[in-house]
Amino acid sequence: MPMEIVRIPVLSDNYVWLVHEPVSGETMVVDPAVAEPVLAEADRRRWRIGQIWNTHWHPDHTGGNAAIKAATGAIVTGPAAEAERIPTLDRTVREGDRVRLGEAEAQVLEVPAHTAGHIAYHFAEEEMLFIGDTLFAMGCGRLFEGSAAQMHANMTRLAALPAETRVYCAHEYTLSNGRFAVTAEPGNGDIAERLREVESLRASGEATVPTTIAAERATNPFMRASSVEALAALRAAKDNFRG
Ligand code: ZN
Ligand code: FE
Repeated sequence: MPMEIVRIPVLSDNYVWLVHEPVSGETMVVDPAVAEPVLAEADRRRWRIGQIWNTHWHPDHTGGNAAIKAATGAIVTGPAAEAERIPTLDRTVREGDRVRLGEAEAQVLEVPAHTAGHIAYHFAEEEMLFIGDTLFAMGCGRLFEGSAAQMHANMTRLAALPAETRVYCAHEYTLSNGRFAVTAEPGNGDIAERLREVESLRASGEATVPTTIAAERATNPFMRASSVEALAALRAAKDNFRG
C-alpha cells in the first residue's frame, strides 16, 4: 500500500507534510511550522500523529513541535548537529541513520548549507525525499550557515537519486524560482515551459510541489550548475533578484 501524503499550506508559503503509513496506521509530520492546522487535518482523517521529523532548526519548520507533542505525545526526531537549537527533540540523527514510520524506513542524508546541520529524509523504496529548505522546485535554499561548495555537493548528490523520486520541499517558491531560472538559462526550453505551467497553476491557486528529481535535473539552474563558482554566482544573483 502506498504511503499517503497530505500537503498542508501554512504561514505565507510553507508546506507541512503529513505522512501516513497505511499498513501500520502510523502517522508523522515533517517540519510543522505551526500546530493547529496540522492537528486539525490529522483529526479530520482520524490519524494519530506519533512522530515529528524536523529537517532543520528554523522556526518555520519547528514552531509547531511543542504544541503537537503536547497534544499527541509525538516523538520528535531531528538533526544531531542542531539539537541545542531544537529543544523539543527526543531523538537526534546523523548521516546514514535510519528512521522508521511503521513499515517504511527513511535514511538520513546530511545536506548542510542552508543551515549547518540541515538533514533530509529519504524513503528509497517509496522514492520519496523530504528535503526541507535545501532543494526547491527550480531553486535551492539560501546559504545562511554554509557555503556554495556544500550546496554544490548537495545538488550533485541529490541529482544522483533515482529520476522518479518525488521531492517534498518545505516552501512554495516555484514562481519566483522559475522567473529567475529563465534569466539564468534563457536557452533552456524545459525551464520556459515549466515556468508557463507554474504561472498557470499559481494563477489558479494550485501548489507546484512535490517536484521530482527528473524535473529538477532538467530545470533547476542550481542543480545544473557546472561548478561551485557557477552555483555561488547563481545564488548571489538570486538573493538580489526581484522577479
Ligand atoms: Zn529554513
Ligand atoms: Fe523555511
